[in-house]
Amino acid sequence: MNENTAFKLINLHFSCRRLPRPFRIYIMEHFDLIIVGGGPIGLACALEAKKQHINYCILEKGCLVNSLYNYPYNMTFFSTSERLEIGGIPFVSISVKPTRSEALEYYRRATVSHSLNIRLQEEVISIRPLNDLYEVRSPKNTYTARYIIIATGFYGIPVLMNVPGEDSPKVTHYYKEPHLYAMQKVVVVGANNSAVDAALETFRKGADVTMVIREGEIGKRVKYWVKPDIENRIAEGSIKAYFNSTLKEIHEHSVDISTPEGVLNIPNDYVIAMTGYKPDFDFLHNAGIRLSDDALLKPSINVETNETNQQNIYLAGVVCGGMDTHSWFIENSREHAVLILRDITQKEARRNT
Ligand SMILES: Cc1cc2nc3c(=O)[nH]c(=O)nc-3n(C[C@H](O)[C@H](O)[C@H](O)COP(=O)(O)OP(=O)(O)OC[C@H]3O[C@@H](n4cnc5c(N)ncnc54)[C@H](O)[C@@H]3O)c2cc1C
Repeated sequence: MNENTAFKLINLHFSCRRLPRPFRIYIMEHFDLIIVGGGPIGLACALEAKKQHINYCILEKGCLVNSLYNYPYNMTFFSTSERLEIGGIPFVSISVKPTRSEALEYYRRATVSHSLNIRLQEEVISIRPLNDLYEVRSPKNTYTARYIIIATGFYGIPVLMNVPGEDSPKVTHYYKEPHLYAMQKVVVVGANNSAVDAALETFRKGADVTMVIREGEIGKRVKYWVKPDIENRIAEGSIKAYFNSTLKEIHEHSVDISTPEGVLNIPNDYVIAMTGYKPDFDFLHNAGIRLSDDALLKPSINVETNETNQQNIYLAGVVCGGMDTHSWFIENSREHAVLILRDITQKEARRNT
């Protein structure tokens, strides 16, 4: 099949949603490249594909830059704005470090002004080999593509504590903003940036905050301008902290905390579990991508091209790190776009000679 001419394949056996099932017409669209995920790095890949005249489409399961949209409303990036730029498009922010709202605005403007080909609210549910192409399925459509970039990030799946009561409505793994917690008894689980930001923000809006921290200290990666603030609040006792401790059980009006001194039961209204997130490993595994057999579950990639063990399937962005979700971020993974598209254009040049 020549995909350049046969980019719309009509298969009378399958589906066109308005007809009864036996008469449905199934339209399989073809792109040279399908990018799974419309986060900053998926968009960077699209900008590079456009520059290299590669016919591409981004499929995004949620809204544009869905992960950033779901970040805490008042968050400020730790990176300066020029380090979050993609495709060389200037990112102008009021302060040196941009806010979430400014980043949403920037990535939206970059997408619209460059007319990026993106389909929102369309989750990719499978990627399977089909002759020398791949078949990509979503609930809305089926596509073929020669090349796939998976840039699905890590923010969709929280790392669970696996304790009784974790599914209660008073527990969140996605902290948004502090007002809800004013004058309430709040437990914040974790000791990294997200936990520290949530603890300080809710404390400053009048919450009675207790931190439950598995390790013996506040995380080493916590922003250097925030770390003294949380350590001083803990030292003066205005935020309580249990170190070397874990949450054991969540009850309707209290929680049990396992501490080195034994199990404590303290009154509680809300739990903010900032225990991290993880990539969708089932999705990667089902696409045939090998994962390391240690706890990091690192996907197998050629570091020079970001191609996986599956020929013509590439990974980009934070998903490359497996459970090591802090090794890649926007600043250092936006360059994946250039690496990958260089490899694809070289392959295309060889194919066309
Ligand atoms: C609070 C916070 C602050 C941060 N601050 C910074 C910072 O200052 N600087 C920095 O460089 N990094 C920062 N990061 C990290 C950075 O945001 C991530 O590394 C970045 O979002 C990675 O971009 P990405 O495109 O790889 O993944 P994501 O932004 O997570 O994008 C992945 C996209 O894929 C979509 N998706 C997932 N599965 C599917 C599917 N099956 N089908 C279709 N779409 C799918 C998701 O909906 C999502 O939109 C921060 C992270 C957090 C949580």
